[in-house]
Amino acid sequence: MIEERRALASGTLLSIVVPIYNEEEVFGLLVERMTRVIDALPVRCEVVLVNDGSRDRSLDLMRAQVEADPRYRAVDLARNFGHQIAVSAGLSVVMGDVVAIIDADLQDPPELLADMLKRWEAGADVVYGKRRRREGESSFKRGTASLFYRFLDSMSDVNIPRDAGDFRMVDRRVADLIARMPERHRFLRGMFAWVGFKQEEFAYDRPARAAGETKYPFWKMLALAVDAILSFSVKPLRLMTWLGLVVTSLSFMAGLYLLFLRIAHPEAFPPAAAGMFVALLFMFGVNFLFLGIIGEYLGRVFVNVQGRPPFIIRRVYERGEDAASAARAVRETGLRADGPR
Ligand code: UDP
Ligand code: MG
Repeated sequence: MIEERRALASGTLLSIVVPIYNEEEVFGLLVERMTRVIDALPVRCEVVLVNDGSRDRSLDLMRAQVEADPRYRAVDLARNFGHQIAVSAGLSVVMGDVVAIIDADLQDPPELLADMLKRWEAGADVVYGKRRRREGESSFKRGTASLFYRFLDSMSDVNIPRDAGDFRMVDRRVADLIARMPERHRFLRGMFAWVGFKQEEFAYDRPARAAGETKYPFWKMLALAVDAILSFSVKPLRLMTWLGLVVTSLSFMAGLYLLFLRIAHPEAFPPAAAGMFVALLFMFGVNFLFLGIIGEYLGRVFVNVQGRPPFIIRRVYERGEDAASAARAVRETGLRADGPR
């Protein structure tokens, strides 16, 4: 077998995508550490900061950074589209031969990019960070996360690695494929697993957020979990069929039993109305639950049939030598308000 080995040339470009939503508190730290890292890396680097509709000074800080260091570019989204979409928008404008995705809060240490780059150089197409230890996260978050990964595993038809977040380094081909996928509900780690190629896990200890607070409250986590399950499995639909079958046969048997009682023990009839009531409630409950699940899938079909782009880029701020070529790098997924006419 021919070993695929990539040569790191000085011309090799690494793109680092950083989604940013109200991160003014951590921004200074981020830039400081990131700049030190990219100064030391053996390749050229561009840092693509994506402003996901921040309401604080994040965009101003980002623009100042672009002015100060041409290796930084800033993508300003038209509003808050959510973390997964913000990353997708970043992927749609990157120019690198290899692309990294990293959180702004320094929970994914940028210093690890050097080792990830070596893995890519050695032939890995997707090097995904796997959390060995998580610090500074509540036991509730860790508990629900572990439960979720297990549930997803049993539900999903795609093998989505456990305890892997979005921190990863991927080959340009893979980044392009993901950027071109038009789906609106984007569970990126699932999509990255789905494309295949040569995937490698990269274990790391996840430190606590460097500053500021989480932009992922419980309901956003829940929405992400629902996206994950509904985007990667039709098993909930199959489950409905099975449960429906079980409930119907149960009620059929109960009916037969009632008939038997009527004939054999007419004096024992009617049985407690309470039992009927409970059964009725149960049936209604199951019905609504199933309708809800169908509705969830139908809603997704509707949203995707509408064909709206997952994100809108208001403007890209850049002033590096690559700025001109960047203007044409609009892939199909999103819309760019400042794109070429
Ligand atoms: N983020 C974003 N849009 C959002 C929410 C979060 O771009 O709507 C960014 C956020 O700025 C950070 C990353 O996504 O860079 C991860 O968010 P956070 O650290 O708050 O999540 P947690 O680590 O707590 O799960
Ligand atoms: Mg975080």
